[in-house]
Amino acid sequence: MTDAASNDRRTQRWAVIGGGLLGLTLAHRLAQAGQQVSVIEAAPELGGLAAAWRLGDVVWDRHYHVIMLSDQSLRRILAELDLEQELLFDTTQTGFYTGRGFYRMSSAIDYLRFPPLSLIDKVRLAFTLFYVSRIKDGRSLEQIPLAAWLERLSGRRVFAQIWRPLLAAKMGDNYRIASASFIWSYVARIYAARRGGMKTEKFGYIPGGYRRILDRFAERLTAAGVSIRLASPVEAIERQADGVHVRTADGEDCFDQVVVTAAGPQAARMCPGLSEDERQRLNGIVYQGIICPSCLLDRKLAGYYLTYITDPTIPFTAIVEMSSLVNAKAEFDGLSLVYLPRYVTADDAFWQYDDTEIRRRFIAGLQQVYPDLTEANIKAFQVSRVRQVYAISTLGYSDRLPPMITSVPGLAIVNSAHIVNGTLAVNETVALGERAIPVLLAAADAQPAVQPQLEIAE
Ligand SMILES: Cc1cc2nc3c(=O)[nH]c(=O)nc-3n(C[C@H](O)[C@H](O)[C@H](O)COP(=O)(O)OP(=O)(O)OC[C@H]3O[C@@H](n4cnc5c(N)ncnc54)[C@H](O)[C@@H]3O)c2cc1C
Repeated sequence: MTDAASNDRRTQRWAVIGGGLLGLTLAHRLAQAGQQVSVIEAAPELGGLAAAWRLGDVVWDRHYHVIMLSDQSLRRILAELDLEQELLFDTTQTGFYTGRGFYRMSSAIDYLRFPPLSLIDKVRLAFTLFYVSRIKDGRSLEQIPLAAWLERLSGRRVFAQIWRPLLAAKMGDNYRIASASFIWSYVARIYAARRGGMKTEKFGYIPGGYRRILDRFAERLTAAGVSIRLASPVEAIERQADGVHVRTADGEDCFDQVVVTAAGPQAARMCPGLSEDERQRLNGIVYQGIICPSCLLDRKLAGYYLTYITDPTIPFTAIVEMSSLVNAKAEFDGLSLVYLPRYVTADDAFWQYDDTEIRRRFIAGLQQVYPDLTEANIKAFQVSRVRQVYAISTLGYSDRLPPMITSVPGLAIVNSAHIVNGTLAVNETVALGERAIPVLLAAADAQPAVQPQLEIAE
């Protein structure tokens, strides 16, 4: 982490492109290092994937977000924003819906009781988890296809009943092209929490949700002299003699250093001066997409925070009942807030459906799981679609990753694709930002200062 400004570091003008949590973390730490920072965000509000929206009369996160007890990097930022003490944690329940009913899967006892698996299956699953947890370095798994590896370790039935629904709930059909390092990072995260002394992981939130965190972040950044420009999609970034020029519809500004936090292909489009190799690396990243409706219901569901769906006739991959964690009376007007995520590949048929068609299919799916749910129970329904949520860790992923510092002097690209062998979460996003800061500052320090052009009188 970077704290105070280094005494002999010259102050440079920085633009951070993207006001998601990565951009905000970078801006915060750069300002603390004595730099002059502008954040330029395309959307009319900050937050990116963690932004809030209005659903009926409720303002809450547009995608479900929880904060884990073990999220140390994020909790440190929340402490700096004077919000950490407001975190509310609870133990939540997890369920499986198999087509024949619900099964709780929140403890070892639930797992031993889980009827779709025989005793031998359960032993094989336990062995797989133990085996994966003993692997020290996930990079060694980057050459191994995930699905075949898990099936070999756990058996076909365990793969179909447990692993496939878990993987589909995280990455849809992209599990077919992912490497085994994905599951290593997932298991490593769980075991890290346990090793940190936690018997059970807890989920939490800040009253007011991410809206509140983002408002406070913006307030603090502004007080520290950071300029925040919203509704300003960056069209092009180009190196010129006097610095790096950033063009938006409103005009052009010149900076000493620019850091782009947008997804790989978007970054490649903005930066025409990149080399062919850099362009190919950025465009070659395979991204996970999501279609994620939120609905407000006037009734509760089964009370699981997360229900994995193993029934392939249902169009979403999980049910997230946010109101099983969050105080619904205080935050949701007493209604239930439920998300129905469908993680999708770039060519999934569901991209072509409009909101009406998504609503029809997803509510029919929800009624399959809850046959007594009626149209009258649905008080609001809204669909979020994002094409580039996070990079799939495909075979040989880290060998093809573009470096953060580009070949264009003064231009860096740091984005969630640089979370290697980790899962996409705000904690990892903040940690990535903090890891990037010394790299960015070192590259900026190494660059000669641009000399103002002197006009020579004749
Ligand atoms: C469904 C879902 C559930 C999640 N659940 C959790 C959870 O429970 N807990 C958790 O910790 N994390 C969760 N996450 C992950 C979390 O949201 C991310 O880790 C984090 O928000 C990533 O931040 P980012 O800044 O890297 O990316 P983004 O949020 O994508 O930010 C990138 C920003 O760049 C902007 N941008 C792009 N192009 C341009 C341009 N041309 N000009 C200017 N700006 C541009 C975008 O508008 C965007 O604001 C979840 C994510 C999703 C999608």
